Amino acid sequence: MRKPKNLSYENAVWADEVLQQIRTQLRDRSGGDTLVLHHLRRRIVKNLGYDEKSTPYERKKLKQRKMIEQGGICAICKNPLPERGYLAVLDREVAHLGYTDANVRLIHRDCDIQVQEERGFA
Ligand SMILES: [Zn+2]
Repeated sequence: MRKPKNLSYENAVWADEVLQQIRTQLRDRSGGDTLVLHHLRRRIVKNLGYDEKSTPYERKKLKQRKMIEQGGICAICKNPLPERGYLAVLDREVAHLGYTDANVRLIHRDCDIQVQEERGFA
């Protein structure tokens, strides 16, 4: 196994073991019912996602606070942000610090794509 970029080898091995235990438990709990397995798996994935990214409601409220704090201006291009919808996105300064007031800025989706490309993520 190659060494992961951001995780020690020991932690990667531990995480893989936990994942395998979860898979075994999901299989046992669902008893071969693929629909039950699907919903159990979705529930775990969804809630782990919220642990990392907060709930949609929490992100929506954070977006509203940032819109007010930034005076409706994109933190990158300094042009007005759209009032609603998915064209304005929260950008974390440090990904592992999560979606907090201190760690995010509100920017245009297009500006986000540009930043991601510059960071080499896209
Ligand atoms: Zn912008």
